[in-house]
Amino acid sequence: MTDAAELRRRTQDLLAAHPPAGTERLDFLRARFDAGLAWVHFPEGLGGLGLPRSLQAVVDAGLEAAGAPDNDPRRIGIGLGMAAPTILRYGTEDQKRRFLKPLWTGEEVWCQLFSEPGAGSDLAALGTRAVREGEDWVVDGQKVWTSSAHLARWAILIARTDPDVPKHRGITYFVCDMTDPGVEVRPLRQITGEAEFNEVFLTGVRIPDAHRLGETGDGWKVAQTTLNNERVAIGGMRLPREGGMIGPVARTWRERPELRTHDLHQRLLKLWVEAEVARLTGERLRQQLVAGHPGPEGAGMKLAFARLNQEISGLEVELRGEEGLLYDDWTMRRPELVDFTGRDAGYRYLRSKGNSIEGGTSEVLLNIVAERVLGLPTEPRTDKDVAWKDLAR
Ligand SMILES: Cc1cc2nc3c(=O)[nH]c(=O)nc-3n(C[C@H](O)[C@H](O)[C@H](O)COP(=O)(O)OP(=O)(O)OC[C@H]3O[C@@H](n4cnc5c(N)ncnc54)[C@H](O)[C@@H]3O)c2cc1C
Repeated sequence: MTDAAELRRRTQDLLAAHPPAGTERLDFLRARFDAGLAWVHFPEGLGGLGLPRSLQAVVDAGLEAAGAPDNDPRRIGIGLGMAAPTILRYGTEDQKRRFLKPLWTGEEVWCQLFSEPGAGSDLAALGTRAVREGEDWVVDGQKVWTSSAHLARWAILIARTDPDVPKHRGITYFVCDMTDPGVEVRPLRQITGEAEFNEVFLTGVRIPDAHRLGETGDGWKVAQTTLNNERVAIGGMRLPREGGMIGPVARTWRERPELRTHDLHQRLLKLWVEAEVARLTGERLRQQLVAGHPGPEGAGMKLAFARLNQEISGLEVELRGEEGLLYDDWTMRRPELVDFTGRDAGYRYLRSKGNSIEGGTSEVLLNIVAERVLGLPTEPRTDKDVAWKDLAR
């Protein structure tokens, strides 16, 4: 039997044992994980069957046709897209068993404690300290722009464990318990009016050494797995034709002929084609990923996604004229997810501004593409061999 046929059979078995209409959502998701049908490319016992990632589509199609619930992937994007691949690659067996199942079912939301007020693009300059005390690490510092920290049970955290060595070498990667009494989460209001992200203060937070991911001092290497996956997760989402930002503007164009002008028509056609090229390139990138871990290629996708989102949402506001300037809701909400298509044109226009900043700014991604994809000369880096404690701050 082929892998695909076997997967279809297993999917039907799951549906027969747990009919979606008569099963609690969470019970169904847990059973799906236990059957190895959560992410088939993960190992057996950890929600997968060790099969090629491309075969996931077979499972998803069978479950969708039967009306089975999904794990609401947009709500748990940081866990699925960034924490999980990092835990899989660097975690101990105990860590994989503890964290992956509730992460996948969405019972435990994750956030990312990387950026700091003085360390964003230059992330390796970060100053949050982790000092070893017995079996624990004691963490003090401040993180910023932390999406979903207000919802999160766990965080992936990078902190400085050795200030005496150059900045990239003295960092260690941890899993931080967001319910620890030393963790304080404060909302940050964005241009959209809502507070999707936060600043997070860490004061004497105790992290057991058993929650370290990778070796002490190897955090920069571990973080590369997270960051490369982040760019793919942000820029390489699977979309149907006319999915994403281009959908609403194309719909408005069809439904509102009175708004059309020749100039806007030419721009819409150009952006429609570019959005389709980006979508298909994303599809090809995902197929390449089946063969291994994402490298710097995700940077190119994320660059295109940010530029297109900003141009398309700008066109939509222009097309709608005065109406495009209306805004649906300025109250400071604490959303559970970024809902690009469920809100109005003004929201899309404002929220897409952040696309060229989050997950690495477009300027920094251009540097990555230049250096690591095209092999061009690197930026001058004078601080590579200087101990972190001696860097000017
Ligand atoms: C919506 C949103 C959600 C986010 N969520 C998270 C999160 O959950 N967790 C988290 O840790 N972080 C998060 N971030 C933070 C994000 O990763 C940082 O904002 C980003 O890396 C840029 O860092 P910075 O803001 O410190 O800007 P800076 O690094 O100070 O950059 C300022 C400007 O200088 C430019 N610049 C900097 N260095 C270079 C260079 N070498 N070459 C050319 N130009 C350069 C930048 O492109 C930018 O225009 C989020 C950001 C946004 C907007």
